[in-house]
Amino acid sequence: MTAILPTYKRFEVRVKQAYGTKIEDIEGKQYLDFGSGIGVCNLGHRHPDVQSAIEEQLNHYWHVSNLYYNPIQEDVAKLLTTNSVADYVFFCNSGAEANEAAIKLARKATEKTKIITFKQSFHGRTFATMSATGQEKIQVGFGPMLETFVYVPYNDLNAVIDAIDDETAAVMLELVQGEGGVIPAEASFVRELEKICREKSVVLIIDEIQTGMGRTGKRFAYEHFGIKPDILTLAKGLGNGLPVGAMLANEKFYDVFGPGSHGSTFGGNPLAMAAAKAVLNIVFNEEFLNHVQIKSDYLRSMLLEKISDLPIVKSIRGKGLMLGIECTKDISELIPQFIQNGLLVLVAGPTVIRLLPPLTVSKKEIDEAVRVIRDVLVDYK
Ligand SMILES: *Cc1c(COP(=O)(O)O)cnc(C)c1O
Repeated sequence: MTAILPTYKRFEVRVKQAYGTKIEDIEGKQYLDFGSGIGVCNLGHRHPDVQSAIEEQLNHYWHVSNLYYNPIQEDVAKLLTTNSVADYVFFCNSGAEANEAAIKLARKATEKTKIITFKQSFHGRTFATMSATGQEKIQVGFGPMLETFVYVPYNDLNAVIDAIDDETAAVMLELVQGEGGVIPAEASFVRELEKICREKSVVLIIDEIQTGMGRTGKRFAYEHFGIKPDILTLAKGLGNGLPVGAMLANEKFYDVFGPGSHGSTFGGNPLAMAAAKAVLNIVFNEEFLNHVQIKSDYLRSMLLEKISDLPIVKSIRGKGLMLGIECTKDISELIPQFIQNGLLVLVAGPTVIRLLPPLTVSKKEIDEAVRVIRDVLVDYK
């Protein structure tokens, strides 16, 4: 029996401990974790550098509020701004909160109300971020949604142009739609979109909650496109398992949130900051990122070699170590079979298997995962 509200349909895995790419359940069965706790434990479970950073911080202070200077917040903010196009950081505790901050900032800065988002997007579960999410299944039963948001088809520039008017504050998008099906943005679309946002003084918000912190083989996914977003939102992999979110903004927004206009009691929690600092010191490293790209190429080539001939496999797509296997039919009932075979994977919609292995995954672990994926898919007609 459980005293927890059933907001998640849980699989029959009772976790005992985890290390690196492996999770062990209470019966001693081992699993390869190719979901990383939904793109969170990007350096693997209990990465030693992150663990010792948290342990060290435990001996200093856990929480003192944002009424005082927490030097460790300054360190993380510096790492984020020197490694991105952004100039200032607001810390919070989750992705949805980072997007809330972005939405509020864009509206206050522009004094406009409308925000354009995309069909199949995912931006969170709070009221505003649910409203921003262009998927009916996320919104059903909670309506009416906020009028602020207008949804247009992804990768459709003309639809954005048609939707922009004098009331448009911002455009917000993921550069690889994660929950919506591992759908990458087209390069020409992203570049033109940036140009139009500049011309029309529309704030460009990039949701890098899933794609940031090295996941796509660059520090941030926007680097693949050579664009300069006005606002970036981060969370998931930032703390490698400790809850933390961040909104990064261009210096032109420095004065928009004055003291008292936005905040978060737990935002920038010192333990989460210690984790984030250790994470960023690892992932903001060219050699590390090159290895992510090498592993991505390897995983992709192994999938192409071993499963692309199966009739159920329609396409393999994504960026870096954020890959989707699109199937010709509903694969949700296959997930327990992957689990039985010792592999944890995610889905993105009914027909897409989503792989988000730790960025530290080994070649051997990739081989093992691909073997299980083939074994399960080969029998599914
Ligand atoms: C997970 C996710 C969110 C929401 O993050 P939470 O921490 O669950 O609030 C928002 N946007 C994207 C792209 C995500 O992947």
